[in-house]
Amino acid sequence: MTPEEFRQHGHRLIDWVADFRTEVHTRPVMSQVKPGDIKAQLPSAPPQQPESFDRIFDDLDRIIVPGLSHFVHPRFYGYFPSNSLLSSVLGDYLSTGLGALGLSWQSAPALTELEEVMTDWMRQMTGLSAAWQGVIQDTASSATMVAIMCARERATQFGLAHGGLQAQPQPLIVYVSEHSHSSVDKAALLAGFGRDNIHVVPTDGEFAMNPAALAQAIESDLKAGRKPCAIVATVGTTSTTAVDPLIHIAPIARQHNLWLHIDTAMAGSAMILPECRWMFDGIEGADSIVLNPHKWLGAAFDCTLFYVRDPQHLIRVMGTNPSYLQSNADGQVKNYRDWGVPLGRRFRALKLWTLIREQGVTGLQTRLRRDIANAQWLAEQVRACPNWQVLAPVHLQTVCIRHTPPHLQGISHGDALNAHTLAWVDRVNQSGGAYLTPSTLSGQWMCRVSIGSYATEREDVAASWQLIREAAESV
Ligand SMILES: *Cc1c(COP(=O)(O)O)cnc(C)c1O
Repeated sequence: MTPEEFRQHGHRLIDWVADFRTEVHTRPVMSQVKPGDIKAQLPSAPPQQPESFDRIFDDLDRIIVPGLSHFVHPRFYGYFPSNSLLSSVLGDYLSTGLGALGLSWQSAPALTELEEVMTDWMRQMTGLSAAWQGVIQDTASSATMVAIMCARERATQFGLAHGGLQAQPQPLIVYVSEHSHSSVDKAALLAGFGRDNIHVVPTDGEFAMNPAALAQAIESDLKAGRKPCAIVATVGTTSTTAVDPLIHIAPIARQHNLWLHIDTAMAGSAMILPECRWMFDGIEGADSIVLNPHKWLGAAFDCTLFYVRDPQHLIRVMGTNPSYLQSNADGQVKNYRDWGVPLGRRFRALKLWTLIREQGVTGLQTRLRRDIANAQWLAEQVRACPNWQVLAPVHLQTVCIRHTPPHLQGISHGDALNAHTLAWVDRVNQSGGAYLTPSTLSGQWMCRVSIGSYATEREDVAASWQLIREAAESV
């Protein structure tokens, strides 16, 4: 493809995306395809001869789009919001179009320095002190794994330079809560801790980590000859957006010299709202933080921020310095390859730069406030409705609900109630009119309504609440 041909197809592609965003509200929110439907429409072998690019557009409409559930749909309430605001999409296109590759500062100085500035803009926007330095990574899962590895190396005085975890005389323990994200378990398992050494701290009535129980768990591990290593606290858990009390957890971490990692992948976007800062009280006592601008804030996926207080430690854990990557500038610059696992890095800072400049901080704040108000409004409707319950505090944009018809009230009907919940959620999803993801809470299925798609307005929430009631009251 020549640059002239690219110009022609590229304009068409931008038009196509603009049309898609304009018309997405007319499509079913959840993809209606069955497993294998998409593969069955694709040739099983690659074309031997070049094809016209126009034929790809035909396949986009015919095959690809029906095979997607639409996170950008105004009636999307699944998982978490992942907005890909169009200004950020342009930043992402640019990143690919420039073909820049961050291997070292020298390989793309602007890639590194824009990333330094964007992570610092975001630091200021989120109210973190100047003691933090950040890097952009692909996902929270990767960042949490890096954090756990930093914890491991601090606790073992750089065991990786010798016998690694296999040479440790005592097992190292990581503390999580039952509402921690699955990526935290995965990180600890992949970092070699072993399932037995992931200790699950009980939560309180609002699903937040209980600090007294944490302190007790640490004491009993010390008595048993185990070595406490790291605590992962969550602000905004996946099921209910519960808030682990950092203000009480941080002093425990400090007392025992444990690494404290804060997973605020979803809720971290709300740090830009002064009225939400209470949720993060105590965060300055942590060692590392992960938050995902590619969720609610609106950066195109993938864009995760990872902040640490001690970059030298991170670099010592992650650093490599082969001769072919050395340059004269090394003493004066950041080489972000030493801040995470991958060597080659995309120019992800561009999509934050285009997003923040196009929206302004106030534009981002206004939208998040709209979503929080919509969640509060929905919670009020649910509470006012007989046989409906709001199951957890509504701190942000997620409302956890359950419908219990009179004949299913009482503890002995747990299984039937689960079947009822899954049936009405499925009915809503199959209708294409809204998309919800159910989840379990204290062993019982419930439905999360995660509000915060860019296009979701109050009238969408109201119509979806009507659809939910009709589905639940008629299955
Ligand atoms: C979404 C989420 C994750 C995982 O995020 P990825 O970027 O997809 O790895 C981890 N923790 C919490 C609290 C989340 O909300």
